[in-house]
Amino acid sequence: MNYEKLTPMMKQYFEIKNQYKDYILFYRLGDFYEMFFEDAVTVARELELTLTGRNCGLEERAPLCGVPHHAGDLYLGRLVEKGYKVAICEQVEDPATAKGIVKREVVRIVTPGTVIDPSLLDEKKNNYILAFFKNKYHAIAFADITTGEFKSTLFDPQVDSYRLLEEIQKIDPSEIIVDKNLEKQLPWLYKSLSSQYTLSVYHEASFKSDSALSVIKRIFGVFSVESLGLVPQEEQTAAVGALLAYIEETQKVPLKHFDRIEHYNQNSYMMIDRFTRRNLELVETMREKGKKGSLLGVLDKTCTAMGGRKIRQWIEQPLIDPEKIQQRLDAVECFHADMFLREELKVILRQIYDLERLASKLVYGNINPRDLVSLKNSIALLPDLKVLLSRQDLALVDQLADQLDLLTDVFDLIDQSLVEEPPIAVKEGGIFKEDCHEDLKVYREVLTNGKNWLLAVEERERERTGIKTLKIGFNKVFGYFIEVTRANSKNVPEDYIRKQTLANNERYITPELKSLEEKVLGAEEKMMALEYQLFQELKETLLKQVQRLKSTAEAIASIDVLYAFAEVAFQHGYCKPVVKDECLLDIKEGRHPVVERIMDPGQFVPNDTYLDQDERQFYIITGPNMAGKSTYLRQVALITLMAQIGSFVPAEAATVSMVDRIFTRVGASDDLSQGQSTFMVEMNELANILNNATSKSLIILDEIGRGTSTYDGLSIAWSVVEYLSKRDGIGAKTLFATHYHELTELEGRFHGVKNYCIAVKEVGDDIIFLRKIIRGGASQSYGIQVAKIAGLPNEVIDRAKDILKKLEANDINNNMNALKEGLTTEPEQPLADKEADLLREQLSFFGSSASEQLVKELSQLNVMDMTPMAAMNCLYELMTKAKSVSGGK
Ligand code: ADP
Ligand code: MG
Repeated sequence: MNYEKLTPMMKQYFEIKNQYKDYILFYRLGDFYEMFFEDAVTVARELELTLTGRNCGLEERAPLCGVPHHAGDLYLGRLVEKGYKVAICEQVEDPATAKGIVKREVVRIVTPGTVIDPSLLDEKKNNYILAFFKNKYHAIAFADITTGEFKSTLFDPQVDSYRLLEEIQKIDPSEIIVDKNLEKQLPWLYKSLSSQYTLSVYHEASFKSDSALSVIKRIFGVFSVESLGLVPQEEQTAAVGALLAYIEETQKVPLKHFDRIEHYNQNSYMMIDRFTRRNLELVETMREKGKKGSLLGVLDKTCTAMGGRKIRQWIEQPLIDPEKIQQRLDAVECFHADMFLREELKVILRQIYDLERLASKLVYGNINPRDLVSLKNSIALLPDLKVLLSRQDLALVDQLADQLDLLTDVFDLIDQSLVEEPPIAVKEGGIFKEDCHEDLKVYREVLTNGKNWLLAVEERERERTGIKTLKIGFNKVFGYFIEVTRANSKNVPEDYIRKQTLANNERYITPELKSLEEKVLGAEEKMMALEYQLFQELKETLLKQVQRLKSTAEAIASIDVLYAFAEVAFQHGYCKPVVKDECLLDIKEGRHPVVERIMDPGQFVPNDTYLDQDERQFYIITGPNMAGKSTYLRQVALITLMAQIGSFVPAEAATVSMVDRIFTRVGASDDLSQGQSTFMVEMNELANILNNATSKSLIILDEIGRGTSTYDGLSIAWSVVEYLSKRDGIGAKTLFATHYHELTELEGRFHGVKNYCIAVKEVGDDIIFLRKIIRGGASQSYGIQVAKIAGLPNEVIDRAKDILKKLEANDINNNMNALKEGLTTEPEQPLADKEADLLREQLSFFGSSASEQLVKELSQLNVMDMTPMAAMNCLYELMTKAKSVSGGK
């Protein structure tokens, strides 16, 4: 582009734009913000605005698109939501007096990670901004600038490079700051990050130790970073320092609410990778991305916005320290046991405002008088809350009660100065009680008296003129005036000066009225100015208390989450899990917390689980489509996770041992978010599990190997089972659901591998789903029966049966035999014994979930002599009796 030819204004535009290349520049022109060239094209596309053009001095017109300045925030918000960064460039001198081009400057920068406007934020979700720096170690630092949370951690790329990405995905920042070398140093990471997040490349200098250190020291007001608990690790300092510098630059205010940096170790939380997070639908559903239908949706009965954000964090970061988990569980138990306590907590918590965000409004200076009254009213509730908690005598509850600062001084300050219902605006007065300043009292008096004076004048003039309808009014143009109807205008006295004629009325002024006006309006203006100044002072004073406010907010958030856990446990009949540090998972009558909610009460069929590191380490779960395999798998994972966040669990009883990671993989064609997951991705994920699982992990494999041909898939699945179940192998607790019923051959050949299936009852040609997990493998896939239920025409069903018969007669059996021949391992026990064992276990397993009556009836049956099919039929009959059959017709 030939810059020389540009018009002077466009030259100015480019001078500014070149400093903000990554940003969309909102260039103020009269009553509009205008965007030019590429910015214009982008914005027009994203916001569906009309793209026009403007002469810019070149031959072609410059693409242009504009938004009215008063609606600027609205458009800006939508752009930021879509991940764009916006720089707002205003006219900084009066166009009327300016010589030549009006001077313009960027006055505000808004990026996805630095939004503070509440209307653009989800109040129950943190909005994080993250900085990454790489040298020998990898460091990340992240913050929520609306709450003041600030954290940082280090990674050793030798040991855990894969963890970095997972950690970032868990934090799910709206924006990531990196230095410009990253693209060259770690192209894969750069690519992966830039495809998922808004990436901001920030100047290298800010990451340099010296400047980073000085920013940290200045903002936190400390002499050494060690006093912040930071290991003086160069990488970490760089990430923290650059993040602070970036935030400060965009906000253009001193950052007072960052008081500490929490340095954490990823090893103190259960690892949950992105696939697992998504598959288990922890905080959002896979399809709609909504909270409804997720675990969070079921558990979130928090009453405050602070609690809402905290519960999400807890779900995303299950603990692995049994002691800490126990503390939470005990607190939940305490709230759970006392309905009145819960009721009282709810009443109090519901009235408490978002103190964290009120605190940050103080810091950013955009708090309004009404916010302060909300703050006061919230503080007023704290003593009651503290008393309620102090009564409980439990470690965690006590500690939280202690953390509650009653903030009486803050309460008094606001209470003594602000009126009960102040306006939102800070420049129009009416905020302060009149006795909090001498002058204010005087102005208010003049104002009230002024009103009386005017009333007196009105009364007197009515008498003097004999016009009953005469009245005194006010408008911005003429100030006070006397209004009479036109019919009466002939009666007005000489000293009235006519100012305005309306359709029905005439308006007049008098010298007396004008002098009164001066007094009153003067007082009003002075009052407004004084109140504005008082408000600024009040803000300054309160700003010093921000840290106390934040720490109290933090305690309230935790109390709120514990309350929510107790409330959910009570409403849905959850039990307190026994938490251990062994390798045992023993669940009696477990349920899927989300699936059971969408069914009528009692319709969900509970199931047991017993996994250890010995005999029953690896479940192979077979059963037709729709039997309930996937539901069962997820339910086991969710119950484990819930126990580790300190929540009660949907079961009759549960013993849960700490799990260091949960892995879930879902076979390509079973993955609900189709299109994304290809077979290759599936195998990648599988590789990740096989390489990273430990004996303390829980692995959920759902239909692995499905995305390829049957034999490929079957072979892969087969060898994965071999690998994971080897006695000297990983030995991680594993649930493997598969429709390859051939895999049931593996039981008895590998230690710890046990077959389970989800029972179905054959009734003639049809099947009924019993939803009950029992010992033993499914003998066939029932694909055709399921297809029939789905409503395929009879003709198709009959033909399919025909074909199946022929296939079974030839191909499959041959291949099965080939597979078996390929096995090198000898069976561990004779197959005849296996059959008997199977039946015994089948029944004992069923026993724990049946009513007493059922167990009695079962024990009277001579099932040992029955074939598995006959035993299954008995089970079905008994279950029908117990009315626990679902999905049947
Ligand atoms: P699969 O993975 O075996 O194909 P799913 O786990 O997807 O089966 O379950 C299919 C449907 O069966 C679920 O959508 C749910 O409605 C129902 N279901 C699953 N488990 C249960 C249960 N324990 N009790 C009642 N209904 C269940
Ligand atoms: Mg499934």
